[in-house]
Amino acid sequence: MNKAEASKRIDQLRQELNRHNRLYYVDAAPVISDHEYDLLYKELQQLETGNPELVTPDSPTQRVGGEPLKEFRNVKHLQPMMSLDNTYNFDELREFDKRVRKLLPDEAIEYVLEPKVDGCSISIRYEDGTMTIGATRGDGTTGDDITANLRTIKAIPLSLHPTLHHSHTPSLHLLEVRGEAYLPIEGFKKLNAQREKDGEELFANPRNATAGSLKQLDSRIVAKRPLGAVFYAVGAHEGIELPTQADALRSLKELGFPTPQMWWLCKDIDEVMARADELQKKESDLPYEIDGAVVKVNRFDQWKQLGTTAKAPRYAIAYKYSHEQARTKLNAITVQVGRTGTLTPVAELEPVFLAGSTISRATLHNEEEIKRKDIRIGDTVIIEKAGEVIPAVVGVVLENRPKDARPFDFVKHIHNKCPSCGGPIRRDPEFVAWRCENISCPMQLKRTLEHYASRGAMDVENLGEVLINQLVDKELVKDIADLYSLKVEQLAELDRMAEKSATNVVTALEESKHRDLWRVIHGLGILHVGEGAARKLADHFQSLEQLEKASVEELQRAQDVGPVMAQSIFDFFRNAKNMAVLKKLHEAGVRPQRPEVRSQRSEGSPFTGKTVVITGTLSKFSREQAQEELRKRGAKVTDSVSKKTDFLVVGEDAGSKLAKAEKLGVKILNESEFLEKLGGT
Ligand code: AMP
Ligand code: ZN
Repeated sequence: MNKAEASKRIDQLRQELNRHNRLYYVDAAPVISDHEYDLLYKELQQLETGNPELVTPDSPTQRVGGEPLKEFRNVKHLQPMMSLDNTYNFDELREFDKRVRKLLPDEAIEYVLEPKVDGCSISIRYEDGTMTIGATRGDGTTGDDITANLRTIKAIPLSLHPTLHHSHTPSLHLLEVRGEAYLPIEGFKKLNAQREKDGEELFANPRNATAGSLKQLDSRIVAKRPLGAVFYAVGAHEGIELPTQADALRSLKELGFPTPQMWWLCKDIDEVMARADELQKKESDLPYEIDGAVVKVNRFDQWKQLGTTAKAPRYAIAYKYSHEQARTKLNAITVQVGRTGTLTPVAELEPVFLAGSTISRATLHNEEEIKRKDIRIGDTVIIEKAGEVIPAVVGVVLENRPKDARPFDFVKHIHNKCPSCGGPIRRDPEFVAWRCENISCPMQLKRTLEHYASRGAMDVENLGEVLINQLVDKELVKDIADLYSLKVEQLAELDRMAEKSATNVVTALEESKHRDLWRVIHGLGILHVGEGAARKLADHFQSLEQLEKASVEELQRAQDVGPVMAQSIFDFFRNAKNMAVLKKLHEAGVRPQRPEVRSQRSEGSPFTGKTVVITGTLSKFSREQAQEELRKRGAKVTDSVSKKTDFLVVGEDAGSKLAKAEKLGVKILNESEFLEKLGGT
């Protein structure tokens, strides 16, 4: 192929690939398979490698950038990115409509209703049809330049749809588009599953995972995350006529941007309310999470007349879907320290009854959420229990804001140090969090002790939160090893304790000295090491001494241990304080039981090397005990039946797993068959 031919084919391939990208992301109607797409992509890649001078920045092959950045540059938005006022019920929506009509008394008002996508706002600039800069919202005026990260998102066009761009809008020199980057719910689940496997901390929800991804300095990591994007607004623009919001949405789509799959032009506020209900019913059809709807006046000339307040436009409002919500006063904000040192702001509330219990505290997630929602002390806040155990603050009732409501400056509030130990704190951008770096921090210590004693770790009965708090506050315990030097007399003196309960605690601790090795490894609370990983590590290394000696490479040879976890384990055993605690544990007589002692016993068990699933209730065992017995015999116990399952153990009230196992021809064992196969325990 000569140069001219190569150049022609390259053009063709790019057009083809862009067309398929649009069909996939904008129209949600792909016409070729992923495999066929990959073939076209590879052909283009090869031609470009052979003809590097023909590579252009907007080629579909040029999405992933090179080296990681040191930091993000600032970008000033050409038009500010506004926040929105919130409403939570139809009465408040009617109020909004009344305000609008009062300001525009003689005009007909139409509204557009769109989903309120719960992702992270982004703004992208196109100059002469080519993407030049992409940014976060930041403070609304200036954001972070995350161009390299946004380029990796295939749903974002690197150049505007050429034919439409040139034939309809030959002079579209400048276009700023606004929308939301998001992780599809499926992609979020996959990402967390992978992180769990790698022993990395999990993301709390798709929004946090998106924020963490966009703030990555290495765009190659972002490229691996299945981010999507959806666009719903135009900022600065030159050379395109856009009289209404409906026109903006249509033009965005024509130019190659994914826009909301559902939106409605409504003739009045009654229709808005009907459509809002309709949207809520169809919520689960959308690939992203939404937290309500956005209502916008349709005509842009009316936007101009209505104007904006300092914070939000008067021509638009968010209507948030309410789950189980209540309103109450925010009295104060405190900061809690978690086991891994994460500092979490907590709302101290005027007690209020919500979904069956009285709530006086709720999480505020992190510093950025407080800023984003503009939550101030003294505000009336809306709290929600959305299926979670921990209630969260989801918003503010602005009309009730007292004059003296105080904004909350997170770092200032804690004087730039850990509120528990006064130690230094460090920002962890990926989790949008601050962390305390001091491992002997009292609050961290409390959480560490709770974790050590918990059922999934050392399983020390009677050692609960109330007792642990006292032990730490009275400085009876400074690390986990100190637990073993506690005396009955000392414990009996504490609140809610007596001779008998104190003896129980000491006995339970005594018993815990010979727990299985994996329980000790898990109990140490090494960052990123969960229960599953602890079991694998115990099997692989057989003793704490071996685990301690292992290099990062050796650690990675254990099943399911990725680089992040390996490094974390390695660092743990290189920390002098941790080593001192381990020595004390040994001196106290903690002797974890080696897995090999059991595996000798397990040889010849019909379960050795088999994959087993348990369903229903067993009479002789709890589910955990049965799993434990199986694992002792070298079985792999999993949660769901598949072709790989060797045995399904069936107790009382077996569920759908039984039907599935029957269908797949998996061997089924009832409880007595199970006991027989287990042999002696
Ligand atoms: P809030 O952050 O709660 O003040 O809500 C305002 C934010 O909602 C905007 O900055 C956007 O990031 C986001 N948003 C999501 N969907 C839409 C939409 N359809 N129109 C406008 N803003 C939206
Ligand atoms: Zn601390």
